[in-house]
Amino acid sequence: MPLYEYACLSCGDRFEALLRGAQAAARCPKCASSELERLVSVPRVQSASTRALTMKAARARDRQQGEERTRAQREYELSHDD
Ligand SMILES: [Zn+2]
Repeated sequence: MPLYEYACLSCGDRFEALLRGAQAAARCPKCASSELERLVSVPRVQSASTRALTMKAARARDRQQGEERTRAQREYELSHDD
């Protein structure tokens, strides 16, 4: 069964729904509207790796900021070491 992501045109909610057969109509879980826009389906594996990339980028940024703090601290200590 394909899993689709929908955006509700009535309330703007986004949700995922399994489409069971061609005649099955998905409905918004919030407002029960069937006025939906089907979004491009993103496979779960891909979204997981995207999350991993985001985590990796965040860690790299934290590390860089940490190094800058360490360098600033060292420069402070050196300039005040007399
Ligand atoms: Zn809705």
